[in-house]
Amino acid sequence: MVIPLLELKDVSRRFGGVAALSDVSFSVPAGAVIGLIGPNGSGKTTLMNVISGVDAPTKGAVLLDGLPIQGVPANTLARRGVSRTFQHIRLIPELTAGQNVTLALHAPSAGPFDILLRLPRLRRIELDRHARAVELLRKVGIGQHASTLAGDLSYGDRRRVEIARALASEPRLLLLDEPAAGMTHGERTSLRDLIAGLPALGVTVLLVEHDMDLMMSVCDEIHVLNQGSSIASGKPEEVRANPRVIEAYLGA
Ligand code: ADP
Repeated sequence: MVIPLLELKDVSRRFGGVAALSDVSFSVPAGAVIGLIGPNGSGKTTLMNVISGVDAPTKGAVLLDGLPIQGVPANTLARRGVSRTFQHIRLIPELTAGQNVTLALHAPSAGPFDILLRLPRLRRIELDRHARAVELLRKVGIGQHASTLAGDLSYGDRRRVEIARALASEPRLLLLDEPAAGMTHGERTSLRDLIAGLPALGVTVLLVEHDMDLMMSVCDEIHVLNQGSSIASGKPEEVRANPRVIEAYLGA
């Protein structure tokens, strides 16, 4: 049996009297793009928080490579290959796109001799980091903007810088939280191509997004939450035609 990259088993999260998640179970196979949809308040963000270690479930298990990770902090999970973007852009506008990505790269340690002598090695490390940041920006299609201030970039390009930052830790699992929010039609099309290309780079994707056309065209499988519970799972076209899904959205 192939162990899925990520598996959720009866994951529940309560906030006082509110059941934000109730017994959610599904798995994310390596190499897939898996979608998560649901009306506002259905528990999508809570689930992303639980998977990425920002939050912990009150019940149930989150398994990475078959090993429990619930309650493991986000920075530890990042080292184990889980990375995410957030719904709201978190770039530093006064820094360039390249500098924003460089900040997310692991700082290679400089030995005592390097610091003592200020050897050119330190400078070389910095150049290597910059080159790596430019390469990541190229991967997300905006290598030409490496020297542009993040604050001067279009909204869609800022979102791309966020994805480049999330890729800096070389994740195996990337959680994308509403990456298309605020994007133009053209930006969405190139975002779609970018996401579709991630599995070929060794990155499995769990995607929360309201843009149904984008979800339909990029996801291998979609899971639907409503009021904290999973109400449907399947291929995009099956999910779209599911009466429970239609009702959840129309009733929202
Ligand atoms: P979605 O991302 O699908 O819009 P959320 O995961 O943000 O949904 O929220 C699911 C439910 O959990 C909502 O009822 C929300 O009010 C509640 N909730 C989320 N986070 C908290 C929190 N920190 N404290 C209390 N309730 C919360």
